[in-house]
Amino acid sequence: MLVLTRRVHERIVLPGSRSPPDSWGCLTVLRGRATKKGGAHFLARVENLLSRHPIQDGRPSQNQSVDQPRIEAAVREILLAVGEDPDREGLRDTPVRVARMYAELFSGLHADPRELLSKSFTQKYDEVVIVKDIDFNSMCEHHLLPFMGKAHIGYLPKGRIVGLSKLARVVEVLSHRPQVQERMTEQLADLLMEETGARGVGVVLEATHTCMTIRGVRKAESVCTTSAMRGSFRDNASTRNEFLSLLSGGAR
Ligand SMILES: [Zn+2]
Repeated sequence: MLVLTRRVHERIVLPGSRSPPDSWGCLTVLRGRATKKGGAHFLARVENLLSRHPIQDGRPSQNQSVDQPRIEAAVREILLAVGEDPDREGLRDTPVRVARMYAELFSGLHADPRELLSKSFTQKYDEVVIVKDIDFNSMCEHHLLPFMGKAHIGYLPKGRIVGLSKLARVVEVLSHRPQVQERMTEQLADLLMEETGARGVGVVLEATHTCMTIRGVRKAESVCTTSAMRGSFRDNASTRNEFLSLLSGGAR
């Protein structure tokens, strides 16, 4: 929902028109002014409003983005709550920076990983395919602190293979959401199983959780490993063992 203050609204009159324009017109004008002024902060706010406002023909915007002004207001509240002065020089732009950062870190909420897997290639290859060491970083949904590590994916194709870079993109989309490692592991395995029609899928995630290393028990070296096996990876011990031994061996 877009709310412009009346003061701002009345100050904007489009060229060739006597009355203030509708909200859409206002925002377009504001964006023009923000660009001229070069105010990054202002521009970011206007861009965010524009992206979530219905487009001119009344249909909702396709761009379902993160509500950055709302994050800014919340971050300012947090700074006040911990006893800081959000208006001091060093903190003045912090809310807008954090809002931009969250928009990036949670961008996966607005992307569909199934789309990435919809394109596959016909290929007669019925051996296990393994992609190791896909770096990822995610946000633990319990503390909103990052956890990061590597994803290892294996699957047994059934006539169709997926582009290797698509696997990395799927990991990125799923990790750029509030997450828990266990769920992310299962989501990855289920998605690959459903969308590629593979005979089996194995996923192993290894990650360090900053909510464990910088607070609470402070176990700096701890690595959490999770795995999910589907289809032949679950039912057939030799397929599963082949996957696991390929993960532990070779160049790591
Ligand atoms: Zn946590």
